[in-house]
Amino acid sequence: MIQVPTIELNNGVAMPQLGYGVWQVPDSEAERAVATALEAGYRSIDTAAVYANERGTGKAVAASGLPREELFVTTKLWNGPKRRWGRDEVLRAFDDSLAKLGLDRVDLYLIHWPRPMRDDFPRIWKTFEEIAESGRARAVGVSNFRPVDLERLGAESALVPAVNQIELHPLFPQEELRALHASLGIVTEAWSPLGQGKELLTLPAVTAVAAKHGRSAAQVVLRWHLQRGNVVIPKSVTPSRIRENLDVFDFALDADDLAALDALGADGRRIGPDPAVFDA
Ligand code: NAD
Repeated sequence: MIQVPTIELNNGVAMPQLGYGVWQVPDSEAERAVATALEAGYRSIDTAAVYANERGTGKAVAASGLPREELFVTTKLWNGPKRRWGRDEVLRAFDDSLAKLGLDRVDLYLIHWPRPMRDDFPRIWKTFEEIAESGRARAVGVSNFRPVDLERLGAESALVPAVNQIELHPLFPQEELRALHASLGIVTEAWSPLGQGKELLTLPAVTAVAAKHGRSAAQVVLRWHLQRGNVVIPKSVTPSRIRENLDVFDFALDADDLAALDALGADGRRIGPDPAVFDA
């Protein structure tokens, strides 16, 4: 069985450095997909209320028979524009996620987007503090927060997020945020680590490194993340790819390989939405 290394969060909780992401996996397929990932050896699953697959994810977790303490389950608050996210609304959303997952606690609970135009994340974070204190989330963190959002949070709360989950891949390496995270003790978690499996995996710089190591483009991109200290949560519903994306702990990129992949990030191109304006 492949052993995934863990990274220690700022509250001492250990988080697997590689997990399985389930965005865009329909609830009806999530049970099978997550079961395949758990059988392959993944022990960390990244879902979210808005993915609408917490139920299928929870069924696979329950059916796996794995001890709860061996699993690391992340979900996220969908702090969408339709509601005023007061304490009761946040607690209700959290309870709803736990109920769908069939769990009495998660390992990591994240604010999904900062939505700075709404100016309500510092208030939401107060309820996250309460959730963390209750032990119903072993760690709490944020997602898509910009440097300015992290600074705002730090000015209003002594609780430093354990994680900031952000778009990050060789075409968008997020150096400024990575440096800020390192200085604040926040773990950098990369979403769309494979660049959503699009152009990135076909670029000559990537395929050349892959050919040199006799590995796939996806595997060398995941190695680039791991060797830079990022947590990664690649997604696939194809069993062979689910296994391939985990099979990245028996080879290493050298300094030339890393430099070739680093060079792809010079222009910093996002694939996903810009957190400064995202409020869907
Ligand atoms: P990803 O970078 O993981 O790419 C996934 C796609 O790449 C797959 O759909 C498939 O087409 C392709 N792929 C996967 N493995 C491959 C392989 N071995 N070879 C070739 N192609 C392969 O993209 P993602 O799903 O956007 O991101 C991963 C996870 O990050 C999500 O599932 C979700 O959990 C999380 N996420 C979070 C946010 C957020 O706002 N917090 C946003 C997007 C994604």
